[in-house]
Amino acid sequence: MLEVSGLSVSYGRHLALESAALTVAAGEIVVVLGSNGAGKSTLIKALSGLVAPHPGARVTLDGTALHKLPAHRIVEAGLALVPEGRHLFSTLSVAENLALGAFMPRTRAQAEASLERVFEVFPKLKQRLGQIAGTMSGGEQQMVAIGRAMMTCPKLLLLDEPSLGLSPLLTAELFRALPRIAATGAGVLLVEQNSHHSLAISDRGYLLEKGVITGQGAAADLLKSEEVQKAYLGM
Ligand code: ATP
Repeated sequence: MLEVSGLSVSYGRHLALESAALTVAAGEIVVVLGSNGAGKSTLIKALSGLVAPHPGARVTLDGTALHKLPAHRIVEAGLALVPEGRHLFSTLSVAENLALGAFMPRTRAQAEASLERVFEVFPKLKQRLGQIAGTMSGGEQQMVAIGRAMMTCPKLLLLDEPSLGLSPLLTAELFRALPRIAATGAGVLLVEQNSHHSLAISDRGYLLEKGVITGQGAAADLLKSEEVQKAYLGM
């Protein structure tokens, strides 16, 4: 469904991403593992139209060429970003944050059904609709951020380091929800620094080192790989 090839990004003379290629199928969870500064955020930003790739890049979602579209049109085409740091409207309620996710005419019409889907994935949020987002715990805020992205009825959900700042317990709880999102037919692409949890719930993984994808495989195989355990799992 998502097909990426030849995706390169530079900041001035610094090449942060070099000819990246990857795919994500409908209903699939894919993780890109990379250490600090490997280019994970750059990859996510390039897919979302927030930084411009070099000419020659190709990003298609269900056949639609995203690399030719501005960021807001990329969201309309079905790609939703959950940014690093969540970026919630911290003085607004959970309900208001979720409603803002359904801002496009196409998604506004489906807001009620989308909200039900969010509650199926995160039952906790149903009881917290009136709570001010800024008063929630980090893990709960991440749930709201993912819920808000789900309100855009995405074909593909992009998550930039969702486990950042969360305890292992909260990370596990959060990641258990991702297969429920994929089961609705959406693809999920996340980037992470070092997380057993992310590989445990993913179908496939890619390894990103200094802007280059150096390996890929089934998540179960990557979990067992000695190289991956040393470089990314802190073992
Ligand atoms: P982290 O896990 O620390 O967030 P990352 O894998 O997400 O790292 P990126 O943020 O994509 O890495 O950065 C990749 C490289 O590009 C780094 O060397 C970084 O310093 C550089 N870089 C990122 N953004 C910019 C920018 N706006 N201007 C200049 N260099 C940048």
